[in-house]
Amino acid sequence: MQSRRIVHLMILAAAASLLWGCSGAGGGGSQASSVASSAKSSAAVESSSAMPSSSSARQTEGGEVMTDNIKVFAQNSIRITMGNKKIYIDPFQMKESPKDADFIFITHEHSDHYSPEDMKKVAGNNTTLILPESMQGKKAEASKIVARIETVKPSETKTVDGLEFTTVPAYNTNKQFHPKSNGWVGYILNVNGSKIYIAGDMDATDEAKAVKCDVALVPVGGTYTMTATEAADLINIIQPKVAIPVHYGSVVGSAADANTFKEKVKAPIKVEIPF
Ligand SMILES: [Zn+2]
Repeated sequence: MQSRRIVHLMILAAAASLLWGCSGAGGGGSQASSVASSAKSSAAVESSSAMPSSSSARQTEGGEVMTDNIKVFAQNSIRITMGNKKIYIDPFQMKESPKDADFIFITHEHSDHYSPEDMKKVAGNNTTLILPESMQGKKAEASKIVARIETVKPSETKTVDGLEFTTVPAYNTNKQFHPKSNGWVGYILNVNGSKIYIAGDMDATDEAKAVKCDVALVPVGGTYTMTATEAADLINIIQPKVAIPVHYGSVVGSAADANTFKEKVKAPIKVEIPF
């Protein structure tokens, strides 16, 4: 009951921040409100052509995509809840130490993505770490934090501890920070039948343009990754049901980039701005 009250309060707070146009004013790196809150309001608006239903009627089959289970903390630091499992991606600037991760996925070794300090905050007694094979050199260090480690190559599909996922190469096409030869990756996670794409640090590569997914979390901050406009162009090609901008507000990029992204993504794709 308590947590339900908190969720409702978060929804009210998010609605208020939308009304007042003050998203992002709380300072960089603040714990993001759940993206679900904006989803609920947009779901309510966009379902007006069908029966006007209460916002609690969202589901994965045939209609609304479930995003209540996705939370973005900062940068590409994301938590996805799958039943009673907790999946973290690139934990970074974590303000709390829940130590409840069943999985930690790492996209690449830059310090805003591979952060042992933050991995310690989320890792529990039985955590599996998934990271690119090209990060073998980090295994000794990481093995002190997690129970087991799986390595992955770009463009492969694997099932680890019951979670199926596919890796997508993540690299730059017009800048040097993330060379393709480094073997870094994004992930498409199959979460209860819903495909959630976490792109990592990248540009709009041919591989990214070929992704099929229900939800896409893509970088919009520019400099090291796609700009907001490039990210919107990619999303308009791959056509997920929901797109969530990430990788802004901490190192480079600002809330303005998230807003530009939202403006340029075309209906019926929904954009949920996490912070
Ligand atoms: Zn990077």
